[in-house]
Amino acid sequence: MTLNRRTFLGTTGAVVAGLSAPMVLAQGKPRVVVVGGGAGGATAARYIAKDSKGEIDVTLIEPTRTYYTCFFSNLYLGGFQELSDIAHSYGKLAADYGINVVHDWAVSVDRDTKTVALAGGGSVPYDKLILSPGIDFVDGAVEGWDVSAQNKMPHAYKAGSQTELLKAQIMAMPEGGTFAMVAPPNPYRCPPGPYERVSMVAHVLKANNPTAKIIVADPKPKFSKMSLFQEGWANHYEGMVDWVGEDFGGGNVSVNPDAMTVAIDGEETKVDVCNVIPAMKAGRIAEMAGVTDGNWAPVNAADMSSKANPDIYVLGDASQQGDMPKSGFSANSQAKVCANAVRGALTGSKVFPAKFSNTCWSLIDADDGVKVGATYEATQEKIAKVDGFISQTGEDANLRKATYEESLGWYAGITSDMFG
Ligand SMILES: Cc1cc2nc3c(=O)[nH]c(=O)nc-3n(C[C@H](O)[C@H](O)[C@H](O)COP(=O)(O)OP(=O)(O)OC[C@H]3O[C@@H](n4cnc5c(N)ncnc54)[C@H](O)[C@@H]3O)c2cc1C
Repeated sequence: MTLNRRTFLGTTGAVVAGLSAPMVLAQGKPRVVVVGGGAGGATAARYIAKDSKGEIDVTLIEPTRTYYTCFFSNLYLGGFQELSDIAHSYGKLAADYGINVVHDWAVSVDRDTKTVALAGGGSVPYDKLILSPGIDFVDGAVEGWDVSAQNKMPHAYKAGSQTELLKAQIMAMPEGGTFAMVAPPNPYRCPPGPYERVSMVAHVLKANNPTAKIIVADPKPKFSKMSLFQEGWANHYEGMVDWVGEDFGGGNVSVNPDAMTVAIDGEETKVDVCNVIPAMKAGRIAEMAGVTDGNWAPVNAADMSSKANPDIYVLGDASQQGDMPKSGFSANSQAKVCANAVRGALTGSKVFPAKFSNTCWSLIDADDGVKVGATYEATQEKIAKVDGFISQTGEDANLRKATYEESLGWYAGITSDMFG
């Protein structure tokens, strides 16, 4: 199960952030290690530390010092957010909650000795391990593309420099140029994400480059909030977006990053920007911990514990849990259920029945927000949908504006729930 450190990530040093919290763990206290400081991991670490009031040692392992949320990264592309608006740091988790924040990669998990090895050397022991590593891409998913081509054809599906690069490429498009997107197959991170992105790219192009075109090659016959997006594209960006679904060969795609061409069902097009969003799988550490079955990590719905190991929990995008979409809202919701269960298992505190919820907002154009959401419960088999809601086509402009404003409140709420 041990991975060669150099092949995993090159040279990354271990750094302890928020130095107020020592690496040495207090004797006798139960130890929780969380791998991945994103929507699932940061929330779980904060809730366990906050609610256990010092009874549990919490270590959060996360390589980056600044976490850029994928949520609202499309709004950055559209010019509705600055990059700094979606950047968050881990200082408060260390200073206000006593979480031991270790800026490093977890490179292996030894389930017998219950330790997580770090790329920078050393290892961290755990009683309970929570993995929330997000996604990685399936090798060979799009013919002609691999991660070495990500600077020519960015995915921008992990936010930060990739998102900045994609925006720079969009802004540099020649007049009347072509933006192509290769959309992913199900299941993937943020079902409406690619289509919100198309909307935001169209918004920018309409203002700066109105004769430009957008082509979307999609392996799916339909997608999340499809009628809402298609209505919005027709209303705001008439004639600009050409969506090629599965029925029209949208799944038969290859790209050539050097030539900047995209072939859809045998027809090759020269493009100026190509956003390749490949098929996804659980972040690699989940596989290395031995908790995946195929691309994802199956979990028990009641507490998000792995079906492969009772002391390991998997949250967010990496988990295979049932009906919830892979979203930041879902990961945050799952993290709270998991935190409550882990604390109960380690300290005997009361464990509440698992309840989950999710809403995914998308912005189509200025003040034109739409949403889809649901509540869920834990059954023996899975996280099961209880009931749901979705915006309607033809809605009043005031309602759409209110929906967008609601999403701004949600963003402020979830990021403070994650990072304190
Ligand atoms: C364009 C786009 C738009 C989106 N919009 C929305 C939205 O509007 N609403 C919404 O709810 N969701 C949205 N999402 C989805 C959301 O971003 C993800 O579902 C969410 O971030 C998943 O949380 P997570 O904890 O599973 O993974 P992440 O938030 O990605 O966190 C994973 C963390 O693990 C770290 N990590 C990985 N491997 C290791 C390792 N070996 N050791 C240590 N750390 C590691 C990574 O550095 C990362 O910080 C969007 C996604 C995209 C791409």
